[in-house]
Amino acid sequence: SAEPGGPYRVVLLGASGVGKTAFANIFAGAADSDDCELCGEEVCEKEIEVDGEPATLTLLDTWDAETDNKCAQEPCMQTGDAYLLLYSVTDRASFLRASELRISLRCVHPAQHTPIILVGNKCDLVRRREVSVSEGRACAAVFDCKFIETSAAMQHNVWEAFHGMVRQLRLRRESK
Ligand code: GDP
Repeated sequence: SAEPGGPYRVVLLGASGVGKTAFANIFAGAADSDDCELCGEEVCEKEIEVDGEPATLTLLDTWDAETDNKCAQEPCMQTGDAYLLLYSVTDRASFLRASELRISLRCVHPAQHTPIILVGNKCDLVRRREVSVSEGRACAAVFDCKFIETSAAMQHNVWEAFHGMVRQLRLRRESK
């Protein structure tokens, strides 16, 4: 559905406390209104350059991890062109939650063309780590999606995740 160059709708998914808001804040930058005209509380649209070409991303941080209301959650599962599936490497429950969300996404998007990146955030918290890099990588392999570890606190690999997303969206477009 997305046009070449976007805007692509990228949805942040994951358990409460894994760093979705931190990701959205980095994406929105200094929240300078000139810099990001279309930014609200939960939605931010921005043009970024990836591999020398512009791409417009609409980032949605609308996922309500607390609610058990499936009707409230479903729109998030359906409206994305791509998904960043976050967990915290310091929280095994959030890793298991990411697996459940991956399964739900597969039901909603049965064709394998929707890019998903499994993101292990908080990799700066070395001594509180509960999920190893190899577990994250193995999970991504099983779920047939990309994998990256990030630290929103250190601004490490966050833009790499967004850029990886754009590359996958472009590949998908070319292969159509
Ligand atoms: P959300 O519920 O998924 O939106 O999670 P938040 O973005 O609100 O993050 C929850 C808490 O974790 C906040 O106190 C953040 O400052 C903290 N946090 C988020 N990302 C990181 C990270 O990469 N490293 C560390 N050390 N803390 C983080």
